[in-house]
Amino acid sequence: MATTLNVLVIEDSEEDTLLMVRELTKAGYSVKFEQAHSAATLAAALAKGGWDIIFGDFTLPGFSGTAALAQVRKYDSEVPFIFTSGTIGEDTAVAAMRTGADDYVMKNNLKRLVPAVERALREVSGRRARRRAEERVIYLAYHDAVTDLPNRYLLQDRLKQAIFSARRAREPVALLVMDLNGFKAINDSLGHHAGDCVLQRVAARLSGVIREADTLARLGGDEFAFILPRTDGEGGMVAARKFLHSLKEPILFEESSLMVTGSIGIAWFPEHGATGEALLQKADIAMYAAKARKLDCAIYTADRDQQAHRRLNIMTELREGIEREEFFYEYQPVVDLKTGRVICLEALARWRHPRQGLLLPEMFIGVAEQTGLIEPLTARLLEKALDDWKRWYSRLRIPVFVNLSPRNLQDPEFPDRTKDLLKSREIPSSMLGFEITENFVMSDPLRVANYLARLHDMGTPLAIDDFGTGYSSLSYLRQLPVDILKIDRSFVMDLADGDDAIVKCAVDLGHNLGLSVVAEGVESARVQDRLRRLGCDLAQGFFLARPSAAPETLCWLEQRREKAPTGTRWEL
Ligand code: C2E
Ligand code: CA
Ligand code: CA
Repeated sequence: MATTLNVLVIEDSEEDTLLMVRELTKAGYSVKFEQAHSAATLAAALAKGGWDIIFGDFTLPGFSGTAALAQVRKYDSEVPFIFTSGTIGEDTAVAAMRTGADDYVMKNNLKRLVPAVERALREVSGRRARRRAEERVIYLAYHDAVTDLPNRYLLQDRLKQAIFSARRAREPVALLVMDLNGFKAINDSLGHHAGDCVLQRVAARLSGVIREADTLARLGGDEFAFILPRTDGEGGMVAARKFLHSLKEPILFEESSLMVTGSIGIAWFPEHGATGEALLQKADIAMYAAKARKLDCAIYTADRDQQAHRRLNIMTELREGIEREEFFYEYQPVVDLKTGRVICLEALARWRHPRQGLLLPEMFIGVAEQTGLIEPLTARLLEKALDDWKRWYSRLRIPVFVNLSPRNLQDPEFPDRTKDLLKSREIPSSMLGFEITENFVMSDPLRVANYLARLHDMGTPLAIDDFGTGYSSLSYLRQLPVDILKIDRSFVMDLADGDDAIVKCAVDLGHNLGLSVVAEGVESARVQDRLRRLGCDLAQGFFLARPSAAPETLCWLEQRREKAPTGTRWEL
């Protein structure tokens, strides 16, 4: 089939036009053509568009070839343009080419027309392909390949523009940074393909609820950002809730239905900064604060800045402190209320800080959890607990209970590593126990139950810590492989004021499940007596003994002439 060629001929002589068309038709082209002879007729033809090639007579009465070329290039920088002329000399022809024509052909030598056209068409298609490839490269430099959203660079650029226009119009502009919760678990357990799919679906949902003037970008990983023109902090909150609401429905992936939630931090111009960088940093701090407080979204405030600073400091110091062995355990005995015997010890972390002195866990455990440093910290402390046991408590054979953080239970290798540590030191696994808070146990019941079973199967006893502060269901607790229930000290301390309903309930519940029940935070003889009357088995608190370093605890134990605690139900 003949190739159709749409030709625009800028020419005053119809005869010359027809001659050129005939040459092309002879060569097998099916030619559609139109003739223009002035700036006005040329403009009309260009406006129509769709030209494959344009011929321009170099010398026209009242219109020049170079002016015609300039006019063409304004419309289309790529369409091939060939000068035709009867009078053009070599020098003029070269000069004409310099103005951006693709070729020139003498009217008295039209044999050159077809080869010139073919070459020009070839070249333009090469140019177009190259340009498309370049455009793709540029596109990818500014977009995220997974979601097709603008990436961090384009966001920064748009943010700069948005602040610029906002300043001129005296309007606010809000920046929202969103981090997905639970995304890492999806990636780790279902693979990157699932992760990519979730990101695409999240991107699609968010794109569906933003306004036309808003920009949604993916900053990387599981972080997204929104630029909202004409929006301040309050408006940002409203928008943030709308965005989070769009993620409420679970995302279906193959057989799984995945829940994804987000935390959003908000900063706005001019309140929190006048540059994109400042807004990004502050929205990030706000997002972090939202996450730490388990809120959906938070607006930046200056004290969050200080907290971020302090956290950064503590983080650096924590890392150095672990290397420099500044962490150690104090031990607090747990006493049997009937016999007065010490049943086990709880290991409580302490930091001998080089400048601030002795620091309690509330100063560093939270930060260690948020920054991931809890893993090396627990690993180091665990070895310390086992070394302490070997050195101080092996003769008395008193088990030591170590507190675990949620993060520790996300490490699939933790049970095996613990087993190896016990083995290499020849310590029976029943001499090391773990405490896990009720809140965490309930956060992901099925996974936690499986994980605890792995620990328990090794022979290490387990305790549910801070009982009463979470919302455990009885039927679920029944399935958990645990040995001890520790009633949170806030309820125990209230006992002195006569309110014993919660403690009584917890004691009965524990016994129904066949667990030993510990009351924490026993500070007086009165509370101890009440606990005894309520049938509570075990107690721990300042009234019995304060936490103290390993050698002091041993002294305390020996003064009480402790014997081996026989018959504890978790001594397997
Ligand atoms: P927890 O597991 O509930 O530990 C008991 C806390 O109660 C300890 O505080 C202990 O010193 C305190 N306590 C004991 N008896 C009494 C009393 O009669 N009255 C009062 N008011 N308090 C009493 P501490 O050592 O400050 O530890 C606080 C929390 O930090 C612990 O609460 C535990 O959740 C966490 N923690 C401690 N060590 C570690 C650790 O090595 N790893 C992890 N992940 N968390 C730890
Ligand atoms: Ca504990
Ligand atoms: Ca506790």
